[in-house]
Amino acid sequence: MNSLSGLLPVELVEKLNISPRFRGDQIFQWIHQKGVSEFEEMLNLPASFRERLTGEYSRVSSSTVETVQQDKDGTAKITIKLYDSAIVEAVLLEDESGRKTACVSSQVGCSLGCTFCRTATMGLLRNLSAGEIVEQVLHLKRQFGTIANVVFMGMGEPLLNLDEVSKAIEVLHHPDGHNIGMRKITISTSGIVSGIKRLADEGPHVRLALSLITADQQLREKLMPMAKTTPLDELQSALQYHQKQTGRRITLEYVLFHGINNRQEDLRALQRFIRSLKVLVNIIPWNPVEGLPYTEPQQSEVAAFTRTLEEAGITTSRRFRRGRGVNGACGQLAVPRNQQPQQPGTLGTISP
Ligand code: SAH
Ligand code: SF4
Repeated sequence: MNSLSGLLPVELVEKLNISPRFRGDQIFQWIHQKGVSEFEEMLNLPASFRERLTGEYSRVSSSTVETVQQDKDGTAKITIKLYDSAIVEAVLLEDESGRKTACVSSQVGCSLGCTFCRTATMGLLRNLSAGEIVEQVLHLKRQFGTIANVVFMGMGEPLLNLDEVSKAIEVLHHPDGHNIGMRKITISTSGIVSGIKRLADEGPHVRLALSLITADQQLREKLMPMAKTTPLDELQSALQYHQKQTGRRITLEYVLFHGINNRQEDLRALQRFIRSLKVLVNIIPWNPVEGLPYTEPQQSEVAAFTRTLEEAGITTSRRFRRGRGVNGACGQLAVPRNQQPQQPGTLGTISP
C-alpha cells in the first residue's frame, strides 16, 4: 500500500532512493509538522522531485476524510476511507483548556467480541498500517489544529497489531514531526498479556490503560470472551512487570453498567487485583449501543460506586459522557460490515 505517512526520515530516504539525505528530513517535516496534503506544497524540494512524488504517490495521504461530525459538546468524529475503501473512525476530544486529544483506531473492527462494545459487532476486517494510524492524527490536525495527546481507544485492539502501532508511535514521537511525548500517548488494551510484556521489555514506554471492567474472573468472562484465556492473575503479573520496568501508573478502565459490576464482591475483587499496583481507576458510565443487553447506570449508581472506591482509598477519575451525539463516545465506534468493502486489504487476518 502506497503511503509515506508511516515512515521515519531515514526510511523516506531509502524508500524514495533520494540524495542528499536531508531531503528525507524535509519531506518528513512537510508531512508531519506542517501537515501539507499535496507534494506540490513542499516548496523547498526541487520541482522535478515534487513532480516525481506526485506521479508515484499522487497525494501525501493514502486515506481521505469522508465525513466530519461535530457534537454540541465539542467532540468531533471523522470517518476515514482507506486505500481499499475500508472505513475507520477517529475522534477529537478537547479539554477545558483547549488541549486536543486524538482518539485513534488500530484495526478496522475488532476480533475480541466484548459483549458491551459496538466495535465488536463488526468483527475484524483487518489491521491498520502505521501510515494509516498516523494519517488519522494528520487528518484531525488538518481539521482542528495541533494535537497534544493520542489515545489508542478507537476501534480495535492495539496490542494485536503492535508492530504497526509501535511504528506509528515512533513517527508521532519524532521531534521533527508531531513531537508528542511518550507520556502524552496511551495504549488501551483489553488485556493481551504477551503484548503488555513486550511493551515493558521493548517499549515504547507510553501510558498503559487496561479495560478491566471487573476484577471478578467469572463476571469478566461473561462480559469479555477473551478473558477465558487470560486469567486475572496472569494479567496482574503482567501489569506488575510493566510497572516495574516503566515506573508508570496504570489506568484501569471500569465501564460501569446498571446493576452488574458495582457489587460488594466487585469492590473486594478490585482491591485484591490492585494490591501491589499503582493505579487510577477511570469510571466510564456505559454508553448505550442499540441491540446490546445492558442498561446505562443511573447517576446515583455512578456516584455511589465512585464514593465506595474513594472510601476504600482507591484513586478514581470520571470520564465524561462526551461525543454521544455523534456516536463518537467510548465503545460507540463502528462502521457496519455492509458499508465496508467485500475484500479488504491484506494487512492482518480476517476473523470468521
Ligand atoms: N480494544 C481496546 C481499545 C479500544 S476500546 C480496549 O478494549 O481497551 C476503548 C474503551 O472503550 C475501552 O476501555 C472499552 O472498555 C470502552 N468501551 C467499550 N464499549 C463501551 C461502551 N459501550 N460504553 C463505554 N465504554 C465502552
Ligand atoms: Fe475490541 Fe476493545 Fe471493543 Fe473489546 S472493548 S471489542 S477489545 S475494541
